[in-house]
Amino acid sequence: MMHIQIDQLKDKALWLEFEERPDIFPVLTNMIKKNECEFAAPIKTRLRAIRVGDIVEVEGNIETSMRLACSRCLNDFETRLASRFALTYSRESPADTEEFGEKEIELSANDMGLIYFSGEEINLLDGIQEQIVMALPLQPLCQESCKGLCSICGANLNEGSCGCAQTPLRSKLAALQNIKLENK
Ligand SMILES: [Zn+2]
Ligand SMILES: [Zn+2]
Repeated sequence: MMHIQIDQLKDKALWLEFEERPDIFPVLTNMIKKNECEFAAPIKTRLRAIRVGDIVEVEGNIETSMRLACSRCLNDFETRLASRFALTYSRESPADTEEFGEKEIELSANDMGLIYFSGEEINLLDGIQEQIVMALPLQPLCQESCKGLCSICGANLNEGSCGCAQTPLRSKLAALQNIKLENK
């Protein structure tokens, strides 16, 4: 599992490598079920952890391969996903909890980008999961120059012209603006 044992963190940096199936991450499992994403490889995480007092700095990278649907032509394509991340964990201090109550501590920790841990190990799962979700492309493209689908006949324009008279985007926008004005 994706844990760091605090007693392994002495005065030197600790290097760790994980290779996990996407379904150990609850949020990703949900997205896979809803067909929002598909992984074509395990998720590899390499990281370096350094401890300074009650603070543990974790820096590393995530790498995997995904199958995504192109947002323009809707074709499936496989792409490599790689992302760097840095997370800061801080030991939860009992004094703070007494003073502010747990809710407020969570809020102020979030403000500072800190993730609290207690006990003798840090569970990296949530932190890493968040990094993967943030690295997912919002509008995946099979290629930067993807021509998309014909708005008239639905043909994939990457496979050649379909022969429909294409309306340039600019005049479509102008038409939309006219409709809005007329409705006012
Ligand atoms: Zn495409
Ligand atoms: Zn067409």
